[in-house]
Amino acid sequence: MEKCIWCNKKTDNLMTFTETMKNILTGTTQETFNCCSDECIDKTRAFCHYANRNLSKFLIGFAISVALVPVALFVTAFMEQMNSPYPVGFAISVIGGLLMLFLFILYPFATPQTVMLIGIKKSIIAVRVMIFIIFAVILFSVINEM
Ligand SMILES: [Zn+2]
Repeated sequence: MEKCIWCNKKTDNLMTFTETMKNILTGTTQETFNCCSDECIDKTRAFCHYANRNLSKFLIGFAISVALVPVALFVTAFMEQMNSPYPVGFAISVIGGLLMLFLFILYPFATPQTVMLIGIKKSIIAVRVMIFIIFAVILFSVINEM
Protein backbone atom coordinates (compact mmCIF):
# COMPACT_ATOMS: atom_id res chain seq x y z
CA MET A 1 0.00 0.00 0.00
CA GLU A 2 1.33 3.44 -0.90
CA LYS A 3 1.62 6.28 1.60
CA CYS A 4 0.65 9.94 1.48
CA ILE A 5 3.86 11.99 1.05
CA TRP A 6 2.52 14.70 3.40
CA CYS A 7 0.80 12.92 6.32
CA ASN A 8 2.27 9.42 5.82
CA LYS A 9 -1.20 7.79 5.94
CA LYS A 10 -1.51 4.45 4.16
CA THR A 11 -4.47 4.29 1.81
CA ASP A 12 -5.46 2.80 -1.53
CA ASN A 13 -7.05 6.05 -2.72
CA LEU A 14 -4.01 8.19 -3.39
CA MET A 15 -4.01 11.10 -5.81
CA THR A 16 -0.89 11.51 -7.90
CA PHE A 17 0.50 14.84 -9.05
CA THR A 18 3.80 16.18 -10.31
CA GLU A 19 5.76 19.19 -9.16
CA THR A 20 8.79 20.87 -10.68
CA MET A 21 11.58 20.81 -8.13
CA LYS A 22 14.54 23.15 -8.40
CA ASN A 23 17.72 22.18 -6.67
CA ILE A 24 21.20 23.67 -7.14
CA LEU A 25 22.64 20.18 -6.65
CA THR A 26 20.46 18.17 -9.05
CA GLY A 27 19.00 20.90 -11.25
CA THR A 28 15.34 21.03 -12.23
CA THR A 29 13.49 17.72 -11.93
CA GLN A 30 9.89 16.57 -12.20
CA GLU A 31 8.88 14.77 -9.03
CA THR A 32 5.76 12.66 -8.69
CA PHE A 33 4.00 12.67 -5.33
CA ASN A 34 1.11 10.69 -3.88
CA CYS A 35 -1.31 12.35 -1.48
CA CYS A 36 -4.41 11.13 0.37
CA SER A 37 -6.47 14.35 0.19
CA ASP A 38 -6.74 17.78 -1.46
CA GLU A 39 -5.54 19.30 1.80
CA CYS A 40 -2.36 17.18 1.75
CA ILE A 41 -1.79 18.06 -1.93
CA ASP A 42 -2.06 21.79 -1.14
CA LYS A 43 0.36 21.50 1.78
CA THR A 44 2.83 19.40 -0.24
CA ARG A 45 2.71 21.88 -3.15
CA ALA A 46 3.23 24.82 -0.79
CA PHE A 47 6.19 23.06 0.82
CA CYS A 48 7.70 22.24 -2.61
CA HIS A 49 7.40 25.89 -3.68
CA TYR A 50 8.95 27.00 -0.39
CA ALA A 51 11.80 24.51 -0.85
CA ASN A 52 12.35 25.68 -4.46
CA ARG A 53 12.64 29.30 -3.30
CA ASN A 54 14.81 28.66 -0.25
CA LEU A 55 16.98 25.57 -0.74
CA SER A 56 19.91 27.59 -2.13
CA LYS A 57 19.80 29.97 0.85
CA PHE A 58 19.66 27.00 3.19
CA LEU A 59 22.65 25.28 1.55
CA ILE A 60 24.76 28.46 1.52
CA GLY A 61 23.92 29.19 5.17
CA PHE A 62 24.69 25.60 6.07
CA ALA A 63 28.07 25.75 4.30
CA ILE A 64 28.92 28.98 6.18
CA SER A 65 27.97 27.54 9.57
CA VAL A 66 30.02 24.38 8.90
CA ALA A 67 32.99 26.51 7.73
CA LEU A 68 32.82 28.44 11.02
CA VAL A 69 33.83 25.30 12.97
CA PRO A 70 37.52 25.23 11.84
CA VAL A 71 37.59 29.05 12.03
CA ALA A 72 36.42 28.90 15.67
CA LEU A 73 39.00 26.22 16.49
CA PHE A 74 41.78 28.19 14.82
CA VAL A 75 40.83 31.44 16.56
CA THR A 76 40.53 29.66 19.93
CA ALA A 77 44.04 28.17 19.53
CA PHE A 78 45.42 31.52 18.34
CA MET A 79 43.87 33.48 21.23
CA GLU A 80 45.21 30.92 23.72
CA GLN A 81 48.67 31.33 22.21
CA MET A 82 48.38 35.09 22.66
CA ASN A 83 47.09 34.60 26.23
CA SER A 84 44.08 36.65 25.27
CA PRO A 85 41.27 36.82 27.83
CA TYR A 86 38.65 37.39 25.10
CA PRO A 87 36.54 34.34 24.18
CA VAL A 88 36.46 35.15 20.43
CA GLY A 89 36.61 31.47 19.38
CA PHE A 90 33.70 30.74 21.70
CA ALA A 91 31.74 33.65 20.24
CA ILE A 92 32.31 32.35 16.69
CA SER A 93 31.13 28.87 17.78
CA VAL A 94 27.96 30.35 19.26
CA ILE A 95 27.30 32.42 16.10
CA GLY A 96 27.80 29.29 13.93
CA GLY A 97 25.52 27.25 16.21
CA LEU A 98 22.80 29.93 16.22
CA LEU A 99 23.02 30.27 12.44
CA MET A 100 22.49 26.53 12.06
CA LEU A 101 19.65 26.55 14.60
CA PHE A 102 17.79 29.35 12.77
CA LEU A 103 18.49 27.77 9.36
CA PHE A 104 16.90 24.45 10.27
CA ILE A 105 13.95 26.07 12.03
CA LEU A 106 13.31 28.38 9.06
CA TYR A 107 14.12 25.75 6.40
CA PRO A 108 13.22 22.34 7.86
CA PHE A 109 14.44 20.32 4.89
CA ALA A 110 15.02 16.65 5.67
CA THR A 111 16.74 14.13 3.41
CA PRO A 112 14.54 12.47 0.74
CA GLN A 113 15.03 9.16 2.61
CA THR A 114 13.54 10.67 5.79
CA VAL A 115 10.63 12.14 3.84
CA MET A 116 9.95 8.75 2.22
CA LEU A 117 10.01 7.08 5.62
CA ILE A 118 7.85 9.39 7.76
CA GLY A 119 6.27 11.90 5.33
CA ILE A 120 6.90 15.64 4.97
CA LYS A 121 4.70 16.71 7.90
CA LYS A 122 6.57 14.60 10.48
CA SER A 123 9.98 15.23 8.88
CA ILE A 124 9.51 19.00 9.45
CA ILE A 125 8.92 18.35 13.16
CA ALA A 126 11.76 15.80 13.30
CA VAL A 127 14.27 18.27 11.76
CA ARG A 128 13.31 21.01 14.24
CA VAL A 129 13.49 18.69 17.28
CA MET A 130 16.82 17.25 16.03
CA ILE A 131 18.47 20.67 15.57
CA PHE A 132 17.38 21.75 19.09
CA ILE A 133 18.95 18.61 20.57
CA ILE A 134 22.17 19.04 18.54
CA PHE A 135 22.36 22.73 19.49
CA ALA A 136 21.82 21.94 23.20
CA VAL A 137 24.52 19.21 23.13
CA ILE A 138 27.04 21.49 21.34
CA LEU A 139 26.30 24.43 23.65
CA PHE A 140 26.62 22.20 26.73
CA SER A 141 29.96 20.75 25.57
CA VAL A 142 31.35 24.19 24.63
CA ILE A 143 30.35 25.63 28.04
CA ASN A 144 31.85 22.57 29.73
CA GLU A 145 35.15 23.23 27.92
CA MET A 146 35.42 26.76 29.31
ZN1 LIG B 1 -2.30 12.86 3.54
